[in-house]
Amino acid sequence: MFAKNLKITIAHLYPKLLNIYGDRGNIITLANRCKWRNIEVSLDYINTGDTIDANKYDIYFIGGGQDEQQILVANELQNQKEILHRAADANAVFLAICGGYQLLGHYYQPHNAERLNGIGILNAYTIAGNKRFIGNVTAKLLQNNTCNKPETLVGFENHSGLTYLKEGTKPIATVITGNGNNGEDKTEGARYKNVFGTYLHGSLLPKNPHFADYLISLALEKRYGEKIELQSLDDSLELAAHNSLVNKKY
Ligand code: GLN
Repeated sequence: MFAKNLKITIAHLYPKLLNIYGDRGNIITLANRCKWRNIEVSLDYINTGDTIDANKYDIYFIGGGQDEQQILVANELQNQKEILHRAADANAVFLAICGGYQLLGHYYQPHNAERLNGIGILNAYTIAGNKRFIGNVTAKLLQNNTCNKPETLVGFENHSGLTYLKEGTKPIATVITGNGNNGEDKTEGARYKNVFGTYLHGSLLPKNPHFADYLISLALEKRYGEKIELQSLDDSLELAAHNSLVNKKY
């Protein structure tokens, strides 16, 4: 029997600045996959100057963007650093895409520009490379980052940043096709507690319903203090889209 009267609260961080390649599709997927299961969803848009209530949200989402928007958000995030650390320590779920991901690390060093300080929730750092990684990515999820099939994660990357993970922050997946974090160590993404960063645009979650459900499950467990079984959905369309991209480079 599935639990009733469930709710999830979501904060979409800086959607007017970091929302490139339709990253807000991740919010739409999380909200719909909850609504299809009669899980109430409360969604707040957090813009520059807004105060974040660290106790309110189960899921925080931040998308990607160009260097210019990243500078604006990096400055704003420094004001929210303590609150967001408190949320992460309380096992809130974060999903950060590309530019947003980079800013959850210690810093992002662009080409010919000042270093952008991150908020250091992820023990990682990013340095702009000389080559732009653009194309589809297929990666194999590391087992502790999913509870369902398939074992792959698919998405689209477009970044020059090279991200390197340090102690305590683990990759989400290993790259099969594409570049991932840095095109060298075959890692894709990063995880610390329930904080997930990834280079996968696409947007990510519509074509990876298993990963979307994993994040929803973690958010419910954070809110209600116990694992809650999710009603299964007909994901035939989503998985057809997923499978059409597995191992496809362009
Ligand atoms: N500007 C960053 C980079 O090029 C992030 C890009 C993005 O968010 N797609 O690495």
